[in-house]
Amino acid sequence: MNKQLHAVSPTDNGLLITKSAWQQALIDAITEPEELFEILKLDKQHLDKAKLASQLFPLRVPRSFATLMQAGNINDPLLQQILPLGAELNISNNYQQDPLDETAANKAPGLLHKYKNRVLLIVTSSCAINCRYCFRRHFAYDDNNPSLAGWQQAIDYIQQDEEITEVILSGGDPLLAPDRYLQQLHDMISAIPHVKLLRIHSRLPIVLPERINEEFLNWFSNSRLKPVLVTHSNHPNEISEDVRQAMQRLKHHGVTLLNQSVLLRGINDDAITLTKLSQRLFAADILPYYLHTLDKVQGTAHFAVKDSQATSIYQSLLANLPGYLVPRFVTEIAGQASKSPIFF
Ligand code: SF4
Repeated sequence: MNKQLHAVSPTDNGLLITKSAWQQALIDAITEPEELFEILKLDKQHLDKAKLASQLFPLRVPRSFATLMQAGNINDPLLQQILPLGAELNISNNYQQDPLDETAANKAPGLLHKYKNRVLLIVTSSCAINCRYCFRRHFAYDDNNPSLAGWQQAIDYIQQDEEITEVILSGGDPLLAPDRYLQQLHDMISAIPHVKLLRIHSRLPIVLPERINEEFLNWFSNSRLKPVLVTHSNHPNEISEDVRQAMQRLKHHGVTLLNQSVLLRGINDDAITLTKLSQRLFAADILPYYLHTLDKVQGTAHFAVKDSQATSIYQSLLANLPGYLVPRFVTEIAGQASKSPIFF
């Protein structure tokens, strides 16, 4: 059982008084494999393995996101991202618990400093959706879950390093935290003069677009810090009309919108799918930013795409799309000064 994604988070610590629509949707998320199989009319022969794998890393998917999946199709590309599978139980060589060695970058509770002028704050330990390929599925969230007062050590760390110009809110999913909490954290960051940019990495705008509400837009866009939101979408079927409208709201509030994807076997490992993804993202005012290779996390080897196939897909993307719609194809290597571009 992955306890980390169930650890106490700012959403659980008593700050919530009334629940917004998105918070209620989270409470109502599907977490039992039996229910997912029932709703999507899936072949029950896969159910026992799904139950076993969900003990290692729980199932979690918002109901509205599940409606984008095709009933009866075990290979649906959105379903395959969240369906616990027997393959996760296999132990694979070269796959680790912490392949990016994030422990070494953990300079203060909740703070990772991997790259020179930017730091990442682990704001929450939970997500709205549990992606089976998640690179942080084994992350030590229990040691990195400061209360609001507990952030002082991280804030002091940023204050003392004048090279840090950008703070990235990550997680888990940072947008799982209530806006009042995020605003207070923002105020602490914003009081540091050398910080200029506030970036949020979140899958919530894709899987629960109602999260982009007035309360969020107010604190995020009325800041002296330039706001950047990096969504996480892997497949064109994820870009619904609700997502497009949420992005419109962000755009009208001056937020820079980027997307990162992971290249995943059986989900988006073909040029047609990734071409459509870039086109749909752009139609929703989001620029494709990164296409990541899979991080080698134990339990995810079945998502890996062969290098030769990845090369061929990327070459097709370069041919199919204008340059500004081709995401940078990168891999993350522990200890490197930046993500490593994959050149052809
Ligand atoms: S939303 Fe991101 S952090 Fe959360 S499970 Fe998915 S990949 Fe992991």
